[in-house]
Amino acid sequence: MFEQLSGRLEKMMKFLRGEVAVTEKNMAEALKMMRLALLEADVNYKVVKDFEARIREKARGEEVLRGLNPAQQVIKIVHDELAAILGGAQKPLQFSSRPPSIFMLVGLQGSGKTTTCGKLARWVAGIGKNPLLVSFDLKRPAAQEQLKTIASSLGFPCYEMTSARMASPEKALKELQAHTANRGFDPLIVDTAGRLHVDDELMDELRLVRTILEPVEVIYVGDAMTGQDAVRSAQAFEAKIGLTAVILTKLDGDARGGAALSIVSVTGRPIKFVGVGEKPDKLEVFHPERMASRIL
Ligand code: GDP
Repeated sequence: MFEQLSGRLEKMMKFLRGEVAVTEKNMAEALKMMRLALLEADVNYKVVKDFEARIREKARGEEVLRGLNPAQQVIKIVHDELAAILGGAQKPLQFSSRPPSIFMLVGLQGSGKTTTCGKLARWVAGIGKNPLLVSFDLKRPAAQEQLKTIASSLGFPCYEMTSARMASPEKALKELQAHTANRGFDPLIVDTAGRLHVDDELMDELRLVRTILEPVEVIYVGDAMTGQDAVRSAQAFEAKIGLTAVILTKLDGDARGGAALSIVSVTGRPIKFVGVGEKPDKLEVFHPERMASRIL
């Protein structure tokens, strides 16, 4: 995904290495190359500005400009800042101290939400958990058909959500709790309604579901291929519902990387996993540091 950005940053570093010394002047030139590379990768404008300011500040230190191998030091500074905007240390999934933990997945239609519910169930089963898939779409109980298909193909149980249950989400939760009591399910992975665009009705519904379920994780699923659109809608979900984490999907595609490099700064929420293919095993724990090393 980051090939183009990576190539352009490498060019910038080659330029610096070719200089006899790193000076304010050629550093300014290098920073300009970096700014253009990030903007071309579709990184949020404000994120780029802040990023550049931090690099400039750190690289200004005398020890960097006068020290041994200054270009190499600039590379390290840029690498570390890339890791920082990707989220710094890896943030693991949170589980509730009183199981079952509820993970609520939200996002626009087509982002990969339902597919990701299945991938996540598979992943948590891999660490010894016992997941139950649940669909909580208040308007279209039929939306669970896809989730049911995914659950049965993977061999996980899927709780049947009927129109009668959805007529009262509070009652639906009570019945779900009665169904899960003492059966050792943990976590409950809850798929929710999606739309093509953010709208007030969707946000009202999701806010209601969040209030009722009290999930330990509210995970925004965003399509990395849609770049800044994914970041903007994440921002809307964060403002209207409140998120705890992000999963970016379709990193196997030819996305330029702008969503991954912007979403943590813009939403303040960590990327915990990335989707790297359609198949159920194509979910990877997101490691900011490793991703930064892939870029530079
Ligand atoms: P939803 O509407 O948000 O529930 O989205 P779906 O789960 O139905 O996914 C929409 C499409 O994206 C499907 O064709 C999925 O197979 C595909 N998809 C989901 N995640 C990934 C991914 O990580 N990589 C790729 N290439 N396709 C994905």
